[in-house]
Amino acid sequence: MEKDNIVETRAITKQEAEACAREQVQYIGAIQPHGFLLVVDPIDMRIVQHSKNLLELLNTTLSSPLDSTTPVLSTFLTDWLELASAEPFDNLVTKNMQLFNFGSEGRISNQYWECLGVIVDQYISLEFFPATSKLDSYDLLINLDRMVTRIRASSSQQELFNILVQAFQKHADYDRVMLYRFLPDWSGEVVAEAVSEKAEVKFLGLRFPAEDIPEQARELYRKSTLRIMADVDAEPSPLVPQRLPSGQAFDQSVSVLRSMSKMHVSYLNNMGVKASMSIALLSNDKLWGLVAFHHYSAKVPPNHLVSEMKASCELFADIVISHLHPTINLENIQRTVANKRFIENSFKDLAQRGYDLKLLAQVLPEIQSINPKSYIGVCIDEQCFVAGGSWQGSAAFAIALSNLLNTASVNELAATNLLSEECELKLSAAPDMAGVLAIKSRHLPEVSVFIGAPEVSQEITWGGKPHTVNIVIKDGERQLEPRSSFALWRQKVIGHSDPWSHEDRELLYAFLNAVEEYMLHCKKELMRLKLYQSSYNDDLTGLPNRRYLEEHFAKLAENKPQSPLVSVFFLDLDNFKRVNDFLGHIAGDQLLKRVAERLKDCVRPDDLVVRLGGDEFVVVVQHTSSDIDTNQKTASHIGKKIIHSIGQPVFDREQPIITTPSIGAVICSPQDQPFGEVLQHADIAMYRAKNAGKNQVHFFSTEDQNQVNREVQLEMDLRLALEQGEIKVHFQPKVGQDKSIIGAEALARWHHKDLGFVSPEVFVPLAEKNNLIGALGDQILNLSCRQVAEWRKQRLLNEGASVSVNVSPLQLLRPGFEDETRAVIERYGLAMSDISLEITETLFMENFESANKVLQSLQTTGMRISLDDFGTGYSSLSYLWKLPIDEVKIDRSFVENMNESDESLAMVEGIISLCNKLKLDVVAEGVEEKVQVALLRGLGCRVYQGYYFGKPVSAESFSFEVRAS
Ligand code: C2E
Ligand code: CA
Ligand code: CA
Repeated sequence: MEKDNIVETRAITKQEAEACAREQVQYIGAIQPHGFLLVVDPIDMRIVQHSKNLLELLNTTLSSPLDSTTPVLSTFLTDWLELASAEPFDNLVTKNMQLFNFGSEGRISNQYWECLGVIVDQYISLEFFPATSKLDSYDLLINLDRMVTRIRASSSQQELFNILVQAFQKHADYDRVMLYRFLPDWSGEVVAEAVSEKAEVKFLGLRFPAEDIPEQARELYRKSTLRIMADVDAEPSPLVPQRLPSGQAFDQSVSVLRSMSKMHVSYLNNMGVKASMSIALLSNDKLWGLVAFHHYSAKVPPNHLVSEMKASCELFADIVISHLHPTINLENIQRTVANKRFIENSFKDLAQRGYDLKLLAQVLPEIQSINPKSYIGVCIDEQCFVAGGSWQGSAAFAIALSNLLNTASVNELAATNLLSEECELKLSAAPDMAGVLAIKSRHLPEVSVFIGAPEVSQEITWGGKPHTVNIVIKDGERQLEPRSSFALWRQKVIGHSDPWSHEDRELLYAFLNAVEEYMLHCKKELMRLKLYQSSYNDDLTGLPNRRYLEEHFAKLAENKPQSPLVSVFFLDLDNFKRVNDFLGHIAGDQLLKRVAERLKDCVRPDDLVVRLGGDEFVVVVQHTSSDIDTNQKTASHIGKKIIHSIGQPVFDREQPIITTPSIGAVICSPQDQPFGEVLQHADIAMYRAKNAGKNQVHFFSTEDQNQVNREVQLEMDLRLALEQGEIKVHFQPKVGQDKSIIGAEALARWHHKDLGFVSPEVFVPLAEKNNLIGALGDQILNLSCRQVAEWRKQRLLNEGASVSVNVSPLQLLRPGFEDETRAVIERYGLAMSDISLEITETLFMENFESANKVLQSLQTTGMRISLDDFGTGYSSLSYLWKLPIDEVKIDRSFVENMNESDESLAMVEGIISLCNKLKLDVVAEGVEEKVQVALLRGLGCRVYQGYYFGKPVSAESFSFEVRAS
């Protein structure tokens, strides 16, 4: 290097490193001058390229000197070499060099030459070396034999390495032989060194940066394991012409004579090396290491030595594979198998304890004990379970890890430095975790497992500072040169963990398998639990269901000693249907949820709140006292509390919903009373509460039971009465303004043999409840029609007058009602207008569409439709015009209170004026007094019905004369 060069040593940039790696050193176009090269076209064996040194080299050995006019190019090889034929070259192959010892024929002038031949891109490459007197090959055999014996006896890897370099050094007689082993980052470590008397050991244990042997050079080692530099100072000899006849440059990938890149030459120069030889050690076609031979003076290794060294190195590489690896692997395999078994057993034990994610965390410390220096953990979604230190894991870590694993193509991450840029785990990692090996599960994408390794602070002694180059300004141009300093550079490496081994990976995969299996079971278990819960729980409110209640009761019944009394509250929401119908199911569901919460708040946590279904709930409260009075007091207190709590408004989008409960309560002993009976009693009591006006608690009593019993008896009697035609019809007159009879209402009558008069308000709902309403309605209609026909026959009924028949909603909505009604009317030879139907608003509430259809259809046939009990229902007045009705009957309760209550009066007034506006007939019901008639008339009502004009009486007693008052 010239003195005026400015040398700057600095870190190599990424771009520079890449440019270096792109340099195509195999097309260097020159060879080392200790031999010469001929490139021959195999078709005619004509020389197409040679190294320029040919002339100088041979001139000293040729009898007739060559000069620049000597036509070497295009000369036939056979002529030139004075060979009898080209036969020896017939068997050349690509890649593998073949040695030609031409014997006496290989003599060019006075000198004997050896030749290495190989096919390169359809050309024959012949590299010639001066043949030296051969060492006895016996020597090598002895050496090799000794070497192998010692290798066999070697107890450690290090010993093996030492034996090899010593044998090589001695045999090849280079000043220094080093065994250079590549590390995963392609830096290299000198693991063995042997020197001649002239040199001393100085590189052993040193680390050399990866850029000392750039990628393309490493690649070339795989193509040609041998590289020789005979004299670093010798001027390379260029190839002439520069290009082959094909127009391409000659590929010197496998050339032994190839001259080194400038970089390499200066690198060796910087080290003071004058001659070198390096032989690659390949293990499974992967560059494992190099044997580097350095000599401090020029040295042309004889060919036989080269091939011997090559063979030895191949042997050594084989030994590396077959001798070293298996023993290491065997240990590894044994350990791995033991670890796997340990993990499996730990998980087996865990499974005994059940399948639960919380338990999974418990097994971690056990697994971690296999590798005590490391953390071991599982991430499930954003959860992170970990064992191995004070660090507890974090959601941030789980998320960061999952992100990294998602971008990794192989579901695997092996990082030895969490602080590096590629790793975003730095913030979220454990304080004492430096590296992480993580795998994402393929089957359960939310699951990943990891091992975290602690920091291993390490001191590396580099033979020169890594990642540095010299920048030399030469002829005004900047050039990269290898660093000239090999000064030892100690580096303390921090923030790194040990590299991850195959064994670590095996362990983690075994762990992952176990976790996956466990997790799958957890999932199944969870499903089973859910299923179990859904069979015992109500989906909407999350409360236990009827089945649960039943089993709970069964358990109470089995309790020994006898458990104290319990109170069972059966709760039904009043008018819940209205909430559903008017505010929608979502609001209804909301309300039910609120009720569930409030019920739970009303009792102690160990009391039971159950949703039976719909708007029915059951609360079971366990009493602590054995005193009946105390229990009764407690129970009524709780009942009141529930009434109060449920009665508070619930807000559905600002709008308050108010619901009230009707509660039936039973105090019982589960041991003495079957569950079914208790629930039935509570249900009965609940109905009593409803009948008594809703929004209250009713405690079941024997009287209630008697009542039920009577009802059951009555129902049976009603059935019989219907069969035997005991149900009769009475008629009550409807009177017009001029006191003329304009019609009558047919009212069902039942004279019970024991009970006497039974009100239709009792037996009509009973018929409805017991599916007898169809039969009852049929009989009433038939009886009414028959009577009308009779009256018509007797000409008692005025023209235009009609008889009203009450129709319950259930009856009207029965399929076929319309046709049957018409058929009956026709059967008695009546006009449709002879019969009116009295219906109530409740009919429209629940089944507006179908009711509307039936009524509209009947109305078009001429039948009159009358809306009964108007004002007690829920539909607003403005709704009236929509309904297919002809007449509105003002409910008795308004008429009754008209005199005293302004509200009733206003109601009556409102109904009348509205009906007049809508051209609907309006009838006042329950008129009992003269004053009422006057009042109603004043308000514009012209038709009346009530005791004042006539009570309901049998047809025989029915009078067509209205009594004058
Ligand atoms: P409703 O349809 O409102 O019938 C009128 C009720 O008021 C009758 O009671 C009648 O006797 C009573 N009433 C009439 N005028 C007066 C009065 O001035 N003062 C008082 N205090 N009461 C008066 P009844 O007959 O006991 O019927 C009760 C209810 O039973 C009826 O109310 C109706 O809803 C139902 N019902 C009666 N017969 C039948 C029937 O054949 N089929 C159906 N589905 N329901 C019926
Ligand atoms: Ca009626
Ligand atoms: Ca009525």
